[in-house]
Amino acid sequence: MSRITKVELIPVQLQLSEPFIISKGALTHAKLTFIKIYDSDGAYGIGECCPYRSIHGETQEGTVAFGKDLAKALIGLDPAHITNHVALMNKMIVGNASIKCAFDMALYDLNAKKLGLPLYRFLGGSREKYIETDNTVSLMSKDLMVAKASKFVERGFKILKVKLGERGRLVDYERIKAIRAEVGDNITIRIDANQGWNYQDAITNLNSMKDLDVEHCEEPVHADNLFDQQRLTSASPIPIMADEAVFNHTDALRVLKANAADLINIKLGKSGGINNAMKIAGIAEAADVYCQVGSFSESRLGISALVHFDYVWSNIKFHDLDSPLMLKDDPIIGGLTYSKDWQVDITDEPGHGADLDPVFLKNCDIISVN
Ligand SMILES: [Mg+2]
Repeated sequence: MSRITKVELIPVQLQLSEPFIISKGALTHAKLTFIKIYDSDGAYGIGECCPYRSIHGETQEGTVAFGKDLAKALIGLDPAHITNHVALMNKMIVGNASIKCAFDMALYDLNAKKLGLPLYRFLGGSREKYIETDNTVSLMSKDLMVAKASKFVERGFKILKVKLGERGRLVDYERIKAIRAEVGDNITIRIDANQGWNYQDAITNLNSMKDLDVEHCEEPVHADNLFDQQRLTSASPIPIMADEAVFNHTDALRVLKANAADLINIKLGKSGGINNAMKIAGIAEAADVYCQVGSFSESRLGISALVHFDYVWSNIKFHDLDSPLMLKDDPIIGGLTYSKDWQVDITDEPGHGADLDPVFLKNCDIISVN
């Protein structure tokens, strides 16, 4: 039996090519924390997290501080007992889903590598699924958003995710009307209000958009507002997707039982990693509900792990895997690739197949716990 011998915490800050703007504010840098877990056989696994303080209540400093505590608690334990380790992390602290995700991802990577299996096979999936990513249009003035949407279509994207959530009855409807007129009818448009609307804004905008062929709408109203989520899910002509309202499997059960969403957006950074994400997908499958996989501002490493998870579940129909495309530089070797049609694929390398580029790593601060 092997033991966890050392954990490295690697906080990094990566510049985005341009600011990423949602209804909750703008972001210019991705503040990521990578976690490397080593075992007594000399193997290691690597995971990543990207906390958004306005969504997780976590900061990069906080992920490092609590990450050190988690590392100390895991050292000496058998890395194969992933479910026990997830339970231990949950017992130690509530919330903090993003740093728990980085540890969970590193443990899955380590265990799959040790068996020589790509992570999707370790999880029981297959690569027969076609996965195509969208690209996200930030929340800006209507004209800037139309120009950005047009650029993405020129670059070959067939699916656009458009950030909305400005207060006011029809201002967001005007944005989507203009974007639909610009890109034509053959482009899929999905929207995300990031909790920006109230019920009246939401129902007015969604009703107005009913003939604009909008695929679905993420998180129209506040994540805690179950009452309005229920009303909207029953009244909206556009399917409602729970994102911030569903962090983990207990949220998924609560929201689906209450008929407060038609669809669920699964992110490893919300669920606390793959272990809980599998439970969300299972609950959604039992309810015959389709899911999306989504991202914060993770690099190709975090999104590679997400793609392996995606390959396990046939009810994951939507793929929002564009966060690595927003980074100015790519610090990752191996892992997922994008085709020119924006199909996403991974290889059969053991684990999730991605790692930090050693050239990049040379200039990083590494905090070692052993
Ligand atoms: Mg969202």
